[in-house]
Amino acid sequence: MKLQARIIDISVPIHTKMVTYPGDPKVVIRTKRGKRTYGSEIKFGSHTGTHMDAPRHVVWRHKGADEIPLSQCVGPCRVLDMTRVKDAVRVEHLRRHRIQRGERILVRTRNSARGFKKFYNDYVYLDGDAAVYLAKRGIKLFGIDALSVKQKGSSDVRPHTKLLEKGIVIFETLDLSRVKPGRYTFVGLPLKLQGLDGAPARVVLLG
Ligand SMILES: [Zn+2]
Repeated sequence: MKLQARIIDISVPIHTKMVTYPGDPKVVIRTKRGKRTYGSEIKFGSHTGTHMDAPRHVVWRHKGADEIPLSQCVGPCRVLDMTRVKDAVRVEHLRRHRIQRGERILVRTRNSARGFKKFYNDYVYLDGDAAVYLAKRGIKLFGIDALSVKQKGSSDVRPHTKLLEKGIVIFETLDLSRVKPGRYTFVGLPLKLQGLDGAPARVVLLG
């Protein structure tokens, strides 16, 4: 790793007016002024903003957010250009990138260009067969610039289950608008929320 790598913050800001996935808790922040200091009480869901889905999100006996080895969340990654994909990232789109075992794969779709200030029902998601494909390739981590890896309202839950059941962690709501496709070092440190199904994270790319 280059010592003086550029740091690209791909996390979205957390605040009370931020977008949350429909049905997820809204963010509540109460800041109080003490005698000499300020402090805040914060209430948010485990899948708020830029966050990691832990395997426990789909199977309770699987690993929680604090049990994921950080070696999985830190290391080389590849950002794939999926900006021309219309509705879903499919096997045919992934195949040409020759994904190898142990890779960390992020997909930049047209979601990043629209931004994260509003919720759009028609966000680009990961197709179920594509999740099966990535699980078979044996990647370490999958990241997407959508609030959910799965299509809204779809009964096909494989984008979550096929990856998480294999211990492949998912990072969602990554803002890749300033990121060119290519190779970077991924640094995603989820809050050490003990035994939880997911955790907000500060995620940066070095490169
Ligand atoms: Zn999630």
